[in-house]
Parts: sequence; C-alpha cells; structure tokens
Amino acid sequence: MTWRLRSRLTLSYLLVALLSVVVVSVLANFVLEASFRRYVATTQEQNARQVAARLGSQLGPDGWDQAAITAIGMAALEQGMIVKLSDASGSMVWDATVHNNGLCVQMLNHIVQTTSSRYPNWQGSYSETSYPVRTSFREVGSVAIGYYGPFFLDDQELAFINSLNRLLAWVALGALGFATAIGLLSARRITVPLARVALATQRIAEGRRDVRIVEKSRIRELDGISTAVNELSRSLGEQEALRRRLTADMAHELRTPLATLQSHLEALVDGVWKPDADRLADLHEEILRLNRLVSDMENLARFEGGATNLSRVDTDVVALVDAVVRNHEAQFRAKGVALRFHADGPAATPCDPDRLSQAVINLLSNALKYTPAGGTVDVTVTGGRAVVEIAVADTGVGIAAEDLPRIFERFYRADSSRARATGGCGIGLSIARAIVEAHGGTIGVESEPGRGSEFRIILLR
Ligand code: ADP
Repeated sequence: MTWRLRSRLTLSYLLVALLSVVVVSVLANFVLEASFRRYVATTQEQNARQVAARLGSQLGPDGWDQAAITAIGMAALEQGMIVKLSDASGSMVWDATVHNNGLCVQMLNHIVQTTSSRYPNWQGSYSETSYPVRTSFREVGSVAIGYYGPFFLDDQELAFINSLNRLLAWVALGALGFATAIGLLSARRITVPLARVALATQRIAEGRRDVRIVEKSRIRELDGISTAVNELSRSLGEQEALRRRLTADMAHELRTPLATLQSHLEALVDGVWKPDADRLADLHEEILRLNRLVSDMENLARFEGGATNLSRVDTDVVALVDAVVRNHEAQFRAKGVALRFHADGPAATPCDPDRLSQAVINLLSNALKYTPAGGTVDVTVTGGRAVVEIAVADTGVGIAAEDLPRIFERFYRADSSRARATGGCGIGLSIARAIVEAHGGTIGVESEPGRGSEFRIILLR
C-alpha cells in the first residue's frame, strides 16, 4: 500500500504527540497521586488533632458543653471522622454512633464509595486512634477518632483529582490538534516542492526543454533536487540542440562532395566532359573528402566508448611527437608556417602510440589550418615526474572566449564558414579529447583572438 506523504507525516506527528501525552498523563497521575495521598493522610491527622484540641476547650466549670461538643462531633462526621469523647475517668461523654448511628453508617458508606470509585483496588479499613483531650492546664479526657485508613477521599478531594484529569484530557486533545496542524503544515512544505519537481520531470519526459523550477524551497535537499532537475532540463536541451546541429552538419558535409560528384559524373555520362586525368582526379578528391568524414565519425564513435579499445605499450612520447612533426614539415613549409619542435626531458609513458599520434596530428593540422602564412607553430614535449605534457602553440587566428568552452564538442566550429572553407567539420578536437580521456589524461586550451592558441595534452606517467 502506498501512502500520501502528507498522511504519512501527519500520522507520524500524531503518533508522537499521542505517545507524549500518554506518557505525560501517566507520569503526572502517578506523581500527583503519590503526593496527593500523602497530603490527604497528613490533613486527616491534622484534622483529628484539631478536633481533639477544640473538644478540650469545651470543659467548663459546669462540666462539658454538650451542645458545642455535638456541633464539633457532627462537623467532624461531615469530614469522615467518628468522634467518641471520654472524660478523665474513662466514662463516655459523647459518642457519634450513639448520637446518630444512621448518619455515621451513611457517612462511612459514602466514603467507601467515593474512594473506591477513584481507586477500585482501594483496601481501606476502619480504625480508631485515641488522642488526649486537654484544657490549658491538664488532661481532661481522651477522644477516639475513627476513620477509614490509610487514607480516604472526600467529595472535594475527588473533585480535585477529577478536574485535574479533565485538564490533562483537554491538554491531550489540544496537543493532538496541534500535532495534526503542524504535521499538515510541514508536510505541505515538502509535498508542494516535490509536486513541482514531479510536474517538471513529467514535462521534460514529454519533450519540453524550457522547463525551469524557479521557486526556492527552504529545505536544502529539496532545493538540490530542483537545481538538479533544472540542470537536467538545460543539459538535455543542449544535447538536443547539438544532435540537431550534428545531423544538419552531417547532411551538409555529405551534400557538398556528393553534389560535386553527381554533377561531374552527369557531365561525363552526357559526354559534356571527357574522362581525362584531371576530371578523374577531381572526382577522386571528393571521394577522399567523403572518406575522411566517414573515418572521422568512425574514430570518434570508437574513442568516445572509453579506454577499452586502447592497446597500451611503454612509449617514448618525445620520439612519437617528433615523428608526427617531421611528417608534417612539408605541409607547413608549403603554406609558409614555421614548425618547431622542443623536447624537455625523457617522457616515457604507457599509451596507445597510434591513437596518441592521431590526437597530436589533429592539434597540429588545426594549428596549420588556423595559422596564416608567416606564423609559427611550436610543439613542446615536457617530461615531468608524474606527468607528460604535449603542447601545441600557434600564432594563428585564436579562438573567441565564448567559443573556448565548446570547441571540443562534436561538430562545433567557432566560425562555420571559415572552418568549412578550411575543410574542417568540427570533429578533430572531439577525437583528440576522446583519445586523451581514454588514456586518463586531460586536454585544455588557452587562446587569445588574433594572437594565437595553445593546446595542452597532459598524460599521467
Ligand atoms: P575542425 O575540423 O573544424 O577544425 P576541430 O574539432 O578540430 O574541427 O576544431 C573545432 C573548432 O575549434 C574549429 O572549427 C576552430 O574554430 C577552432 N580551432 C581549433 N583549433 C584551433 C586553432 N589552433 N586556432 C584557432 N581555432 C581553432
């Protein structure tokens, strides 16, 4: 069974409140009753002594004042005490049971009833205690005061305990109401942002990429989810745009050589052109272009898969880069760009030499493409203790700051028209990055438009 978060949270709050109330009530009753019993027992003792004291002052020169004694005795009976007064010689002066036995029995029954209603297990028993009765100067008799012990409750005391429990019940009710309100409120604080996230992800799943959650939550984790969803939406949007551009670029790249091939072949078929060596060389050039594009795509797909395709061997990176540089010298010379190679320290590291050469070739051919005649390209290999660094620095056109973070993306060209003119299709750097990352290394660039660029590959040794 699945729960709504709101019900679940509210119920938890309610349970906690209920538990607290029960514990507090039980403890309060326990503690209060213990002290209450003590209080009642002490009060009874005091009352009895008071009765004895008041009786003492009722012996005048003409003997006991029977009317006053009766008043005291009846008042005591109301408090649950049965008074029996004897004089110094031990003969009975006044006895409540003699005075009004019916009322005594009724009173005692009432006490048993009241106290048992509160304490069903109450085991009281009737007992009498004797107190001396004195005037100011001497002892003039004794009074036996009987009541139910060890304690009993009269009506007011019972009313007190009952109202205390009623108060506790109200407090409990209030606490439960409060807990429900707080539970609902704090559940709302969580469920509302969660519902927002759910709606946003649903929209993203439906294909919308402009979804952003702008409302802030004061709960950090929930805020984190919102940020993650926004990031997801943004990055999906970027990926989609990239994919669309990729498809468009692919179509464009393929169309140019295919259109040339088609028109040239049609001219040959129609007999407009003779199939001489020049014409065929043109056709061949276009086919080479197509082939380059397809193999670039293939390479990229292969390296973006990760390190599994590498065959690593211990390689002297200085020798490897030197060989690549020498292979390109002719091209650089033809364009009038100076190419220089520097090596600093031994730089042996386990790598896939063919793939690493490919990455360096891509950097080098970019440097050649984007450096006008008269410029310089410096290739440097530095062997450190922990890393090997390959740097390719040119004095070419440079890269605008807004393009820098994106040039390693597939098919990204800082300047489409110029790049196309130079034969680039925006894959060279993607391949270089895929190769370097498959080796566990990093590739980065620093550039200043108009002054040149420097690409750096860093490999761990
Ligand atoms: P391309 O085949 O278009 O050269 P790359 O992936 O190799 O594709 O490069 C992506 C983009 O980065 C290029 O279109 C170009 O704008 C820019 N770029 C790469 N290398 C250089 C460089 N050395 N100097 C200036 N711009 C460069």
